[in-house]
Amino acid sequence: MKITKSIKKQTKWSLKEHSKGKKIGLIPTMGFLHEGHLSLIRKAKEYSDRIVVSIFINPTQFSPEEDYKEYPRDEECDIKLLKNEGVDVVFIPEVSLMYPGEYETYVTVEKLSKEYCGRTRQTHFRGVTTVILKLFNIVLPDFAIFGEKDYQQYIIIKRMCRDLNISTKIIPAPIIREIDGLAMSSRNRYLMEDERKEATILYESMKKAENMVKKGIKDVKSIKKEMVKLIESKKFPRIDYIEFVDSETLRRVSTIHGPTRILEAIWIGRVRLIDNIEIRPKR
Ligand code: AMP
Repeated sequence: MKITKSIKKQTKWSLKEHSKGKKIGLIPTMGFLHEGHLSLIRKAKEYSDRIVVSIFINPTQFSPEEDYKEYPRDEECDIKLLKNEGVDVVFIPEVSLMYPGEYETYVTVEKLSKEYCGRTRQTHFRGVTTVILKLFNIVLPDFAIFGEKDYQQYIIIKRMCRDLNISTKIIPAPIIREIDGLAMSSRNRYLMEDERKEATILYESMKKAENMVKKGIKDVKSIKKEMVKLIESKKFPRIDYIEFVDSETLRRVSTIHGPTRILEAIWIGRVRLIDNIEIRPKR
């Protein structure tokens, strides 16, 4: 497995692989890898001959009050895990290479970036789309895999690629969960023991909604009311948002007619967790 820190070397490698007719799959990550990340690599293998994983904690997607400096890192362990998965290249650029002095170019998916997580994290998605486009220009992937864990991010990146005629195909991968239902996330490690126990409420509340829909209830307001009641019965959680949206457009829905995503963001102590599931109306 090659470890590349140089942008030029990464692009050179990718061009060479393309000239041999090889398809490249990219998995962008911020490191501190877990099973969720590794599942994306396995998915990428279904589509690609060569796998590139990038590890880059992207400063432009954190606001000044967020956890950029404390974001968990363990490069040594990440590299071991990636070797085991048979990854071809790990691309680990320095911040100063990705954002040299007088950097001033950003790409924004205008409306979608302002909704949901974008309300609390106003410049977050601008940072994400900018770094992803940069990574695409460096790695030149045929495919890029994104976890549905960050569903809004996945939809925004798909929109960016459509709007800017980017030829990289965006492939979604399902959410990997802990045994008790909590979606795996590098940020789960911030949770104290008693907070961790209550963190399952995200998934439980969405499962409750799913069961209501299975019983034939379609009115979002009534479903949300029950979810809020359940969440508020716990000690730690504080709701940031619960939204029911069309799975493709991310437009809010008030009645469940077709494939719908429940998007949820909840503070547990000082940790903000997100999750989502897809629900469908009873036939
Ligand atoms: P991150 O390192 O948090 O930026 O995540 C890198 C990629 O891994 C993103 O596409 C995430 O959506 C994906 N990912 C993170 N956690 C999970 C999970 N539990 N299941 C599936 N994909 C995930």
